[in-house]
Amino acid sequence: MDTIQQTIQPQGSHFIDGAHVEDKAGREILCRYAATGEVVATLHSATPAVIEQALASAKRAQAEWAALPPVARGRVLRRVADILRDRNEALSQLETIDTGKPIQETRVADASSGADALEFFGGIAASLTGETMHFGGAGGDFVYTIREPLGLCVGIGAWNYPTQIACWKAAPALACGNAMVFKPSEVTPLCALKLAEIFVEAGAPKGLFNVVNGYGDVGAALVTDARVDKVSLTGSVPTGRKVYAAAAGNIRHVTMELGGKSPLVIFDDADLENAVSAAINANFYSTGQICSNGTRVFVQEAMVKPFTDRLVERTRNARIGDPLDPETTIGPMITDDQRQKVLNYVRIGQQEGAQLLLGGTCPDGPGYWIEPTIFGGVTDGMTIAREEIFGPVLSILSFSDEAEVTARANATEFGLAAGVFTADMKRAHRMVAALEAGTCWINEYNLTPVEAPFGGVKLSGVGRENSRAALEHYSQVKSVYVATGDVEAPF
Ligand code: NAD
Repeated sequence: MDTIQQTIQPQGSHFIDGAHVEDKAGREILCRYAATGEVVATLHSATPAVIEQALASAKRAQAEWAALPPVARGRVLRRVADILRDRNEALSQLETIDTGKPIQETRVADASSGADALEFFGGIAASLTGETMHFGGAGGDFVYTIREPLGLCVGIGAWNYPTQIACWKAAPALACGNAMVFKPSEVTPLCALKLAEIFVEAGAPKGLFNVVNGYGDVGAALVTDARVDKVSLTGSVPTGRKVYAAAAGNIRHVTMELGGKSPLVIFDDADLENAVSAAINANFYSTGQICSNGTRVFVQEAMVKPFTDRLVERTRNARIGDPLDPETTIGPMITDDQRQKVLNYVRIGQQEGAQLLLGGTCPDGPGYWIEPTIFGGVTDGMTIAREEIFGPVLSILSFSDEAEVTARANATEFGLAAGVFTADMKRAHRMVAALEAGTCWINEYNLTPVEAPFGGVKLSGVGRENSRAALEHYSQVKSVYVATGDVEAPF
């Protein structure tokens, strides 16, 4: 572990105004490698002085950045993307150490999806324009609009995708001419620091993308600062409620990417192997720590037995082990706390009468491991079918017809995502039209290309990330009325 520690320990806990910053007066953050529980880096939560420095420097940088030609801004973002791709291997290893996710995943899903966002929004930066509306024909009055940045944006991240979350927020924000102060989750503080270094290397003004590490109180201090124009949070619903309420105090813009309890509906005409593959991806990728996971797997009655048998058989092939081994397919949970929370749900599932078909226990030894877990015979009222577990726990629920399953799929306070597997395309489109979810997949699950909007309805959030839709959430429109004649007045 010595070598990991030497390369992982950042030069400072924060990255502000183009440099690493340390203030040891802040509360300690012990960064542990989830596979072993060993401390690989020690950081300090931001003090008020650090927060002040970050906000003041970002405010300065925003003015400089917004004054650049949009095409020059786009070029910087695309350079960041190039560097992310060039260093994908090193960044993937860092992501694996930061999160415990298998290297097999991080090589394809993290720095690379961050790069996609930077390329997409870097390419779009120069095409952001306003509109013109004419009144009374040529030579008459008209209105033109100016698409302006919001100013200073705060991004707050969850632990599961530290690089991707930072890029999904920074890329559209910066493309629109904003600056960002980003606070990673306190359990994954490393990756965003590296991203901040890369922004400066790519030519971004110092301070444009600052990273402050810290606990929830640091997030709260950022959200309530009067200089902050927008807050984008990826996190749980309870945190979302607090951040949304705090931002309301200053009537600030928000994007809320929150939790879910999404349905994956499998009709008996679906391709069995594809449906099983999707259920595996929708529950066990990143050891189940994905907001959009399809954790309520509704299977039509005639399909329940073949689906369950095949799912259990294939899940037995999961390779739990060293996340840095390319053959490993299941890593540990992020922290022991999170594992205990998941184990508690497993116990509740059994107590409430669900059938534990696979997993549910922890392999011996250090690290925060838990086996992929499958429950059969789950009913809608059970706790494991209602609450977000955020771990590798899949519930199989049976259904008889489309109307019934649509109503049951929607009977949740969440609305992040949903999936439908069927050979009948008319039924698939009819169902997704009726499903209350921000993102739906037909005969797939959990693919989130940057070109497509991503976000939730109901308690799962407000706003959209990715795609052109994200631009609406990082810019505002000024309307300018231009008169060409005299001014009429009543007296
Ligand atoms: P969390 O809500 O505990 O923490 C999220 C972030 O908010 C952390 O950085 C935390 O320090 C910060 N925070 C906590 N209290 C705060 C406060 N009062 N003010 C400001 N910031 C505060 O979430 P988590 O446990 O890190 O992540 C798991 C959750 O995130 C799950 O619910 C999951 O579904 C959700 N998530 C959603 C998406 C999405 O895109 N919709 C993606 C990933 C994760």
